Amino acid sequence: MMAQFLEIKEGYQDALLFYRMGDFYELFFDDAIAAAEALDIALTKRGKHLGEDIPMCGVPFHAAEGYLLTLIRKGFRVAVCEQMENPAEAKKRGSKSVVRRDVVRLVTPGTLTEESLLDARRHNFLAAYNVVRDEAALAWVDISTGAFRVMPCPPVRLGPELARLAPREVVLSEADYQNCAGIVTESGASPTELGRAAFDSSGAEKRLLDLYKIGSLDAFGIFSRAELGAMGAIVEYLDITQKGKLPLLRPPVKELAQGTMQIDAATRRNLELTHSLSGGREGSLLSVIDRTVTAGGGRLLERRISSPSRSLSEINARLDAVRFLAEQRQICENTREFLRNVPDIDRALSRLGLERGGPRDLGSIRNGLAAANDLADSLSQSDLPAKLAEASANLRGHGDLIELLDQALVAEPPLLSRDGGFIAPGYDEELDEARQLRDEGRGVIAAMQAQYAEHTGIGSLKVKHNNVLGYFIETTATHAEKMLNPPLSETYIHRQTTANAVRFTTVALSDMETKILNAGNRALEIEKRLYSSLTTAILDQVGAVSDTARALSEIDVATGFADLARSDNWSAPTVDDSRVFHVEGGRHPVVEAALRKTGEAFVANNCDLADGAKSADVWLLTGPNMAGKSTFLRQNALIALLAQTGSFVPAKAAHIGLVSQLFSRVGASDDLARGRSTFMVEMVETAAILNQADDRALVILDEIGRGTATYDGLSIAWATLEHLHDVNKSRALFATHYHEMTQLSDKLDGVENATIAVKEWEGEVIFLHEVRKGAADRSYGVQVAKLAGLPDSVVARANVVLEALEKGEREGSGQKAVIDDLPLFSAISEPVQTAPAGPSDLHLALNDIHPDNLKPIEALNLLYELKELS
Ligand code: ADP
Repeated sequence: MMAQFLEIKEGYQDALLFYRMGDFYELFFDDAIAAAEALDIALTKRGKHLGEDIPMCGVPFHAAEGYLLTLIRKGFRVAVCEQMENPAEAKKRGSKSVVRRDVVRLVTPGTLTEESLLDARRHNFLAAYNVVRDEAALAWVDISTGAFRVMPCPPVRLGPELARLAPREVVLSEADYQNCAGIVTESGASPTELGRAAFDSSGAEKRLLDLYKIGSLDAFGIFSRAELGAMGAIVEYLDITQKGKLPLLRPPVKELAQGTMQIDAATRRNLELTHSLSGGREGSLLSVIDRTVTAGGGRLLERRISSPSRSLSEINARLDAVRFLAEQRQICENTREFLRNVPDIDRALSRLGLERGGPRDLGSIRNGLAAANDLADSLSQSDLPAKLAEASANLRGHGDLIELLDQALVAEPPLLSRDGGFIAPGYDEELDEARQLRDEGRGVIAAMQAQYAEHTGIGSLKVKHNNVLGYFIETTATHAEKMLNPPLSETYIHRQTTANAVRFTTVALSDMETKILNAGNRALEIEKRLYSSLTTAILDQVGAVSDTARALSEIDVATGFADLARSDNWSAPTVDDSRVFHVEGGRHPVVEAALRKTGEAFVANNCDLADGAKSADVWLLTGPNMAGKSTFLRQNALIALLAQTGSFVPAKAAHIGLVSQLFSRVGASDDLARGRSTFMVEMVETAAILNQADDRALVILDEIGRGTATYDGLSIAWATLEHLHDVNKSRALFATHYHEMTQLSDKLDGVENATIAVKEWEGEVIFLHEVRKGAADRSYGVQVAKLAGLPDSVVARANVVLEALEKGEREGSGQKAVIDDLPLFSAISEPVQTAPAGPSDLHLALNDIHPDNLKPIEALNLLYELKELS
């Protein structure tokens, strides 16, 4: 057996080998050590290899999925090795023969299909990246839904695209591994190396032609060699991991980079689109806007939020659908009712395709298609906008399949086909007959019990069944005596004596049992056959069935948006190809939702950029910390993004000229994990914007330059704003605490100052969260610090320092002079009550002295004067 293990393991060096032995998957050697630690299970040993103990651990077969999930999450790959025959068959080949085993599947992060291993509302993408001289392409597939996509992707775009798609696993050739594995890991996916041959474009073309059983790929579009290679590598990798059972892949669709709003990884993180900064879904934009009721709708929404469109016709068609549903409340609510009954058709379909499905998947398809049909009927009365009409047309056309499944299946089919019982009575005559025989047999046996009780005169005698003996007659030890002796012993054959009972059989009982067993087995066999034919009937229609699933998701997303728009009072944006960015009464959906919980109101704000002569391209926003600068910046980015997703927006009105690229940067966010200093990260990210943004971009910069010394920071922020204005010509919102920058609005036409209003009242600041034109008068930092609970003595001291510094600035004396001049420890020695003492006359006089300008005699006179003051 060990020889067999080692031989199989040879082929799967980089995976843990789950070696099936009876009811367990066993792991040996280093695999066992790694798995025992990762799963926190006991490490034991079994036998010896080359004189050493063999480490071993095991997981029960029936609970394997949970363990698999843990291992995959921890970054392992698992080769599942099954017994390919039963031990009896092996014995026939010779008494020493080992049961034949083989790997049936390689489980990797990107190739999961099991419901329990997947997040129903998330895609599970497997991607391949391929560079061929000056071309490069990224292909990706979700094997649990069959969606297959490809796009050109130069190396600089790899990071942003991976951030958009968030694949679990990316396949790379040996040649690209070195350059790209780091980018892949950084995006959170695991990189997998695959031989170069898998990426070869001519081999890839052949593989794709075979897969789709077509003669030419032209029908799917024109693909570059890099694209062909990337797609081929995906197919090859699926072939390797699924051991030849290829999943149902839909025809590949070519995506164009120009088709979607470009958003890089830092911007996605910063805007918390699908994950919050703390990592979970909670607190993200997605969590607040997701009103979908089906798993497929949830996945489509995530995709939409991750890739807002840049096509005006697409955006407006989506908006029309949402507008219709938001206005037609009854239709919207009815539709959602229908959708609530829709199971996950896509995933059921893919499991059936990979021969990993069961009767419940057949049931899901039946219920899903039936719900789709009913929904189409209910929508047929209305005059639908184009997007909904198109989706609604795709809901139909499965009458025959629904009827077939309806007749064939019981109402709630079991998960596994193993035990039968999922085909409805009346569907197959032969099956009904076999079942009848089996069930009648069971009735006959009940009658036999009465007959035996009478015959033996033992009223308490029972006929029972277990898996070892089959049917048997059971009686207590006292009564058994009679049956163990003639004449009864001629009929009743002793089988077993246990502590409390004695068991017998009879010839008639064994015959009956054989009949029941045969009938039962026949019934099972017939059910299995019917299961395959039903599966085939579904798979024959796979394209049309997944079109229906897609249409359901589309309708789900639109009704979800309509529901959100109505309940949260969002409005339809105008999107066109101007450069206008005009938001009236805009809100931040996530902050607003958080405030709602505490009963506070969100203050809506306007934003007006690039509206011809009326407004500037750039707003420079100043205001104290905590006033709401970041919130304002982000809410405007989110409004643009939501509008281009095809959703209504959290504003009274919005007019958005198409945004091609969205950038968002926040000063000084620590990124120690990547080993770069805070400031370095900030600068790398700012450089990326200045190098890429164009006049269609929307840029949001929050406190850039904060990560370094004041003058350095100010100069960098200053120059960045000038560059954005002069060179990039982007629409931008720029928040800063450097008040000096407000002077820029005098110099640059396209820059306008805005500030967030605060009120000062008895030495405290009150945040009004209102954005107004103009510059902030001061920063209120000390007041904010006070609000945060800094000790009074520190606040008092800070006020002294601040006043001295401000005075120094007003009077033009150097900073050093001011600091040297500060009364030492004054605030500490006289805390709390004392109002900070103003500088004395002596100090003021000293401040006025500029020694460089003094003649010796003037200096002497001054000394006399100072002496007077002291
Ligand atoms: P800043 O960037 O100026 O330091 P933030 O944008 O982080 O300020 O906002 C600080 C807090 O103020 C937020 O957490 C939120 O609770 C509140 N806030 C911000 N904007 C608003 C608003 N428009 N209406 C109500 N509360 C707001």
